[in-house]
Amino acid sequence: MALVQIDNVSRIYQTGEVQVKALQDVTLSIDEASFVSFVGPSGSGKTTMLNLIGCLDKPTQGKIVVDGAEVDGFDRRQSAAFRGDTLGFIFQAFNLFPVLTAYENVEYPLVMIKNESVSKRKEKVLNVLESVGMLDQKDKFPDQLSGGQKQRVAVARALVTQPKLVLADEPTANLDKKSAVNVIRLMRNMRDEFNTTFIFSTHDPGVMKEAEVIYTLEDGRLV
Ligand code: ADP
Ligand code: MG
Repeated sequence: MALVQIDNVSRIYQTGEVQVKALQDVTLSIDEASFVSFVGPSGSGKTTMLNLIGCLDKPTQGKIVVDGAEVDGFDRRQSAAFRGDTLGFIFQAFNLFPVLTAYENVEYPLVMIKNESVSKRKEKVLNVLESVGMLDQKDKFPDQLSGGQKQRVAVARALVTQPKLVLADEPTANLDKKSAVNVIRLMRNMRDEFNTTFIFSTHDPGVMKEAEVIYTLEDGRLV
Protein backbone atom coordinates (compact mmCIF):
# COMPACT_ATOMS: atom_id res chain seq x y z
CA MET A 1 0.00 0.00 0.00
CA ALA A 2 1.22 3.50 -0.82
CA LEU A 3 2.08 5.78 2.10
CA VAL A 4 0.70 8.80 0.25
CA GLN A 5 -2.12 8.55 -2.28
CA ILE A 6 -3.28 11.66 -4.09
CA ASP A 7 -6.32 11.36 -6.34
CA ASN A 8 -7.45 14.11 -8.72
CA VAL A 9 -6.40 16.85 -6.33
CA SER A 10 -6.87 20.50 -7.17
CA ARG A 11 -6.20 23.54 -4.99
CA ILE A 12 -7.67 26.79 -6.16
CA TYR A 13 -6.98 30.04 -4.32
CA GLN A 14 -9.66 32.68 -4.60
CA THR A 15 -8.51 36.22 -3.84
CA GLY A 16 -11.28 38.66 -4.65
CA GLU A 17 -12.04 38.29 -8.35
CA VAL A 18 -8.84 36.43 -9.10
CA GLN A 19 -8.61 32.64 -9.14
CA VAL A 20 -5.22 30.96 -8.94
CA LYS A 21 -5.10 27.28 -9.82
CA ALA A 22 -2.14 26.33 -7.61
CA LEU A 23 -2.67 22.60 -8.30
CA GLN A 24 -4.79 21.09 -11.06
CA ASP A 25 -6.00 17.52 -11.11
CA VAL A 26 -2.90 15.89 -9.67
CA THR A 27 -2.87 12.12 -9.17
CA LEU A 28 0.13 10.27 -7.80
CA SER A 29 1.23 7.84 -5.12
CA ILE A 30 4.33 7.67 -2.97
CA ASP A 31 5.64 4.42 -1.52
CA GLU A 32 6.83 3.89 2.01
CA ALA A 33 10.56 4.49 2.56
CA SER A 34 10.94 6.33 -0.74
CA PHE A 35 13.00 9.46 -1.35
CA VAL A 36 10.93 11.83 -3.43
CA SER A 37 11.36 15.33 -4.77
CA PHE A 38 8.85 17.81 -6.17
CA VAL A 39 10.58 20.11 -8.60
CA GLY A 40 9.52 23.03 -10.74
CA PRO A 41 9.97 26.78 -11.03
CA SER A 42 8.75 29.28 -8.47
CA GLY A 43 4.95 29.38 -8.45
CA SER A 44 4.53 25.88 -9.92
CA GLY A 45 2.73 24.54 -6.82
CA LYS A 46 5.47 22.80 -4.80
CA THR A 47 4.65 24.44 -1.47
CA THR A 48 0.92 23.93 -2.03
CA MET A 49 1.58 20.22 -2.67
CA LEU A 50 3.68 19.77 0.49
CA ASN A 51 1.18 21.74 2.58
CA LEU A 52 -1.62 19.44 1.44
CA ILE A 53 0.35 16.27 2.19
CA GLY A 54 1.39 17.82 5.53
CA CYS A 55 -2.21 18.50 6.61
CA LEU A 56 -1.52 22.22 6.68
CA ASP A 57 -4.05 22.95 3.93
CA LYS A 58 -7.07 21.32 2.29
CA PRO A 59 -7.65 20.55 -1.38
CA THR A 60 -10.47 22.29 -3.23
CA GLN A 61 -11.17 18.98 -4.93
CA GLY A 62 -9.89 15.43 -4.71
CA LYS A 63 -8.77 12.97 -2.10
CA ILE A 64 -5.55 12.67 -0.08
CA VAL A 65 -4.71 9.58 1.95
CA VAL A 66 -1.60 9.57 4.15
CA ASP A 67 -0.66 6.45 6.10
CA GLY A 68 -4.15 5.05 5.64
CA ALA A 69 -5.97 8.17 6.85
CA GLU A 70 -8.12 10.34 4.60
CA VAL A 71 -6.57 13.59 5.72
CA ASP A 72 -8.62 15.92 3.52
CA GLY A 73 -11.59 15.20 5.80
CA PHE A 74 -9.75 16.10 9.02
CA ASP A 75 -10.72 19.11 11.11
CA ARG A 76 -8.02 21.35 12.58
CA ARG A 77 -7.67 19.35 15.77
CA GLN A 78 -7.41 16.04 13.92
CA SER A 79 -4.87 17.56 11.52
CA ALA A 80 -2.72 18.78 14.40
CA ALA A 81 -2.81 15.38 16.13
CA PHE A 82 -1.97 13.62 12.86
CA ARG A 83 0.98 15.95 12.21
CA GLY A 84 2.32 15.29 15.71
CA ASP A 85 2.05 11.52 15.41
CA THR A 86 2.99 10.86 11.81
CA LEU A 87 4.89 13.78 10.29
CA GLY A 88 8.15 15.66 10.67
CA PHE A 89 8.92 19.01 9.04
CA ILE A 90 12.12 20.65 7.84
CA PHE A 91 11.98 24.30 6.76
CA GLN A 92 13.93 26.43 4.32
CA ALA A 93 14.91 28.92 7.04
CA PHE A 94 15.89 26.19 9.57
CA ASN A 95 13.46 27.62 12.16
CA LEU A 96 15.52 26.63 15.18
CA PHE A 97 14.89 28.40 18.49
CA PRO A 98 17.83 30.81 18.85
CA VAL A 99 17.82 30.63 22.67
CA LEU A 100 17.92 26.83 22.76
CA THR A 101 21.02 24.71 22.17
CA ALA A 102 21.17 22.13 19.38
CA TYR A 103 20.31 19.47 21.98
CA GLU A 104 17.35 21.45 23.32
CA ASN A 105 16.05 22.19 19.82
CA VAL A 106 16.00 18.47 19.01
CA GLU A 107 14.43 17.65 22.38
CA TYR A 108 11.65 20.18 21.92
CA PRO A 109 9.13 18.07 19.93
CA LEU A 110 9.42 15.28 22.50
CA VAL A 111 8.71 17.66 25.35
CA MET A 112 5.74 19.08 23.47
CA ILE A 113 3.91 16.00 22.27
CA LYS A 114 5.14 12.87 23.98
CA ASN A 115 5.03 12.19 27.68
CA GLU A 116 8.12 10.10 27.99
CA SER A 117 10.59 9.49 30.80
CA VAL A 118 13.49 11.93 30.98
CA SER A 119 16.04 9.15 30.45
CA LYS A 120 14.24 7.75 27.38
CA ARG A 121 13.99 11.25 25.96
CA LYS A 122 17.68 11.87 26.46
CA GLU A 123 18.56 8.59 24.78
CA LYS A 124 16.46 9.45 21.72
CA VAL A 125 17.91 12.96 21.41
CA LEU A 126 21.51 11.77 21.72
CA ASN A 127 20.92 8.92 19.24
CA VAL A 128 19.48 11.12 16.55
CA LEU A 129 22.14 13.82 17.08
CA GLU A 130 24.75 11.14 16.58
CA SER A 131 23.02 9.89 13.41
CA VAL A 132 23.19 13.35 11.84
CA GLY A 133 26.80 13.83 12.96
CA MET A 134 26.08 16.65 15.40
CA LEU A 135 26.71 15.01 18.77
CA ASP A 136 29.91 16.99 19.37
CA GLN A 137 28.05 20.26 18.63
CA LYS A 138 25.06 19.53 20.86
CA ASP A 139 25.64 22.35 23.35
CA LYS A 140 26.07 25.05 20.71
CA PHE A 141 23.40 27.63 19.94
CA PRO A 142 22.13 28.06 16.35
CA ASP A 143 24.17 31.30 15.99
CA GLN A 144 27.34 29.29 16.54
CA LEU A 145 26.55 26.80 13.75
CA SER A 146 26.93 27.02 9.96
CA GLY A 147 23.87 26.80 7.71
CA GLY A 148 24.62 23.17 6.90
CA GLN A 149 25.01 22.34 10.60
CA LYS A 150 21.76 24.12 11.47
CA GLN A 151 19.94 22.08 8.85
CA ARG A 152 21.46 18.90 10.30
CA VAL A 153 19.96 19.86 13.64
CA ALA A 154 16.64 20.52 11.91
CA VAL A 155 16.80 17.06 10.30
CA ALA A 156 17.43 15.55 13.75
CA ARG A 157 14.50 17.51 15.20
CA ALA A 158 12.21 16.26 12.42
CA LEU A 159 13.26 12.65 13.07
CA VAL A 160 13.31 12.51 16.85
CA THR A 161 9.61 11.65 17.15
CA GLN A 162 10.17 8.76 14.70
CA PRO A 163 7.64 10.00 12.13
CA LYS A 164 6.61 7.89 9.14
CA LEU A 165 7.04 10.81 6.78
CA VAL A 166 9.28 13.88 6.72
CA LEU A 167 8.31 16.88 4.57
CA ALA A 168 10.92 19.45 3.60
CA ASP A 169 9.97 22.50 1.55
CA GLU A 170 13.13 23.77 -0.21
CA PRO A 171 15.36 22.64 2.67
CA THR A 172 18.53 23.64 0.81
CA ALA A 173 17.47 27.07 -0.47
CA ASN A 174 19.58 28.90 2.13
CA LEU A 175 22.67 26.71 1.73
CA ASP A 176 25.72 26.84 -0.51
CA LYS A 177 25.94 24.12 -3.19
CA LYS A 178 28.15 21.75 -1.25
CA SER A 179 26.17 21.97 2.00
CA ALA A 180 22.94 21.60 0.02
CA VAL A 181 23.98 18.29 -1.51
CA ASN A 182 25.36 17.13 1.86
CA VAL A 183 22.05 17.82 3.63
CA ILE A 184 20.10 15.91 0.95
CA ARG A 185 22.51 12.97 1.22
CA LEU A 186 22.13 13.06 4.99
CA MET A 187 18.36 12.86 4.56
CA ARG A 188 18.78 9.89 2.22
CA ASN A 189 21.05 8.17 4.76
CA MET A 190 18.38 8.77 7.42
CA ARG A 191 15.84 7.14 5.11
CA ASP A 192 18.19 4.13 4.84
CA GLU A 193 18.69 4.00 8.62
CA PHE A 194 15.12 4.60 9.82
CA ASN A 195 12.98 3.73 6.74
CA THR A 196 11.43 7.17 7.03
CA THR A 197 9.85 8.42 3.82
CA PHE A 198 11.21 11.81 2.73
CA ILE A 199 9.44 14.24 0.42
CA PHE A 200 11.25 17.47 -0.39
CA SER A 201 10.93 20.25 -2.91
CA THR A 202 13.65 22.11 -4.77
CA HIS A 203 14.32 24.03 -7.93
CA ASP A 204 18.04 23.33 -7.77
CA PRO A 205 19.16 20.79 -10.45
CA GLY A 206 22.17 19.73 -8.33
CA VAL A 207 19.84 18.85 -5.45
CA MET A 208 17.04 17.19 -7.43
CA LYS A 209 19.38 14.64 -8.96
CA GLU A 210 19.91 13.19 -5.47
CA ALA A 211 16.22 12.12 -5.36
CA GLU A 212 15.11 8.64 -6.32
CA VAL A 213 11.69 9.73 -7.57
CA ILE A 214 11.10 13.15 -9.16
CA TYR A 215 7.73 14.75 -9.78
CA THR A 216 7.85 17.87 -11.94
CA LEU A 217 5.18 20.53 -11.53
CA GLU A 218 4.40 23.21 -14.08
CA ASP A 219 1.60 25.71 -13.45
CA GLY A 220 0.08 23.33 -10.93
CA ARG A 221 0.07 20.32 -13.22
CA LEU A 222 2.20 17.22 -13.05
CA VAL A 223 4.32 16.91 -16.20
P1 ADP B 1 6.00 27.12 -5.37
O1 ADP B 1 6.18 26.61 -3.98
O2 ADP B 1 6.30 26.10 -6.43
O3 ADP B 1 6.76 28.38 -5.61
P2 ADP B 1 3.28 27.71 -4.51
O4 ADP B 1 2.64 26.43 -4.18
O5 ADP B 1 3.76 28.54 -3.38
O6 ADP B 1 4.44 27.46 -5.58
O7 ADP B 1 2.26 28.61 -5.35
C1 ADP B 1 1.52 28.13 -6.47
C2 ADP B 1 0.63 29.25 -6.96
O8 ADP B 1 -0.39 29.53 -6.00
C3 ADP B 1 1.35 30.57 -7.21
O9 ADP B 1 0.77 31.20 -8.34
C4 ADP B 1 1.07 31.35 -5.95
O10 ADP B 1 1.10 32.73 -6.20
C5 ADP B 1 -0.33 30.88 -5.59
N1 ADP B 1 -0.59 30.92 -4.14
C6 ADP B 1 0.06 30.24 -3.18
N2 ADP B 1 -0.44 30.48 -1.96
C7 ADP B 1 -1.47 31.37 -2.16
C8 ADP B 1 -2.43 31.99 -1.29
N3 ADP B 1 -2.42 31.78 0.03
N4 ADP B 1 -3.35 32.83 -1.85
C9 ADP B 1 -3.35 33.04 -3.18
N5 ADP B 1 -2.50 32.48 -4.05
C10 ADP B 1 -1.57 31.64 -3.55
MG1 MG C 1 7.45 27.23 -2.45
